Amino acid sequence: MKIYKFGGTSLGSPKRMHNVVEIIASDALSKVVVLSAIKGTTDLLYKVAAHHKTGNTHICHNLLDDLETFYADYIKNLYSSAGRKENAVAYLTSCKNDIRKLIKSSYSIASENEMVSKGEIISTYLFHLLLNEKELNGSLLPALEFMNLDENREPDMRYIYKGVMKEIQLDTLKGKNIHVTQGFICVNHKGKIDNLGRGGSDYTASLIGASIGAEEIQIWSDIDGIHNNDPRDVFNTRPISLLTFDEAAELAYFGAKILHPSTILPAKKYDIPVKLKSTLNPEAEGTLINRVKSDTPCVVKAVAAKDGITAIKIRSSRMLMAYGFLRKVFEIFEKYKTPIDMITTSEVAVSLTIDNPEHLDEIVSELAYFGETEVDKEQSIICMVGNRIMEETGVVYRIFNALEDIPVRMISYGGSKNNISVLVKSADRKQALNALHNRLFLGGN
Ligand code: ASP
Ligand code: MG
Repeated sequence: MKIYKFGGTSLGSPKRMHNVVEIIASDALSKVVVLSAIKGTTDLLYKVAAHHKTGNTHICHNLLDDLETFYADYIKNLYSSAGRKENAVAYLTSCKNDIRKLIKSSYSIASENEMVSKGEIISTYLFHLLLNEKELNGSLLPALEFMNLDENREPDMRYIYKGVMKEIQLDTLKGKNIHVTQGFICVNHKGKIDNLGRGGSDYTASLIGASIGAEEIQIWSDIDGIHNNDPRDVFNTRPISLLTFDEAAELAYFGAKILHPSTILPAKKYDIPVKLKSTLNPEAEGTLINRVKSDTPCVVKAVAAKDGITAIKIRSSRMLMAYGFLRKVFEIFEKYKTPIDMITTSEVAVSLTIDNPEHLDEIVSELAYFGETEVDKEQSIICMVGNRIMEETGVVYRIFNALEDIPVRMISYGGSKNNISVLVKSADRKQALNALHNRLFLGGN
């Protein structure tokens, strides 16, 4: 059994949905197909929810009218049979009526979650009808019947396994071997509709793949794999053919927007290879992520950047030779549920970074108790990922040689053998990425 996941852009037009069906049909084996909402839908639904929250219901209804127009056109061009067109339009109308009903009642996070879940519910329904039109043996596997989170918002792997297997067995009895399900959406421990966060369909695919011990998890998007640098800032990047789980996890978190950061964890735990492929270029090799280390002589495989970082420095004479100091500092971040990304310490100071500044003011005012604090906003983490960064000599030299003209605010080295990260001003990000690309991948001086 393989898992195929397709993103919203890959379903962005009827033609592209047809392409997806072709990709699926070219592999005769039984598979689970995880779909995102069609491009733009989730964004629009979040807008509806935001206006619902602020009481602008007329804007909600206008937005829903836009959605209806988009889908009417999409459906018209998707199917050849009039019956299927009617069926799809009726389904869309019922979803839209559900949303209008939610708008009539008062806003809650539960109503928002229910609203945004409709994106995936619609895309899978339309896709399933298309499989049917093409006489492929497709069935719908409702994610809300198996994708459950526990009270810590962790996926309940046993429940997922049981739920998916039960549905697959029932389908198989009916001769169906393409099991189509919704990415992103799930049920929380209160039994309410919830989701895995923006871009969460990748995570759904990985959770299903891991729970049933799939042969492979394929994540299809419009990018031909993880590139060795950020294509938005660097001109001649290329896809990396092989990455280990650990390398990919670092890259998914730091910048490479191609993969939801949680995706790698279940795949690694259950040792299921993950392949990244492009629907625009299905022949391209893509990126394979697995346990096996590649034998590439290249030490640094990729450079990525993460923006929107805030650095906080705490300088305290109380830290000198003291124990328990860092714990007290960390407790403040824990209290405000704010994860720390990078950290470096000296004998009298500690610098750390966060990417969620929501509680920055409260954190800084509590930290002031320990000493002087300094905050630098608009920073970027530049992260270099590879296989033997710690073992090979000369890597650090090449990196800092490349960065000779760029002020570096923090360095993190030694935390993981796959990673070395530096913090620079976001204004210097592009120059840093290009200088590193030149020096590390193009052999420049
Ligand atoms: N449709 C959701 C989003 O736009 C989930 C996903 O695309 O993976 O975030
Ligand atoms: Mg995505």
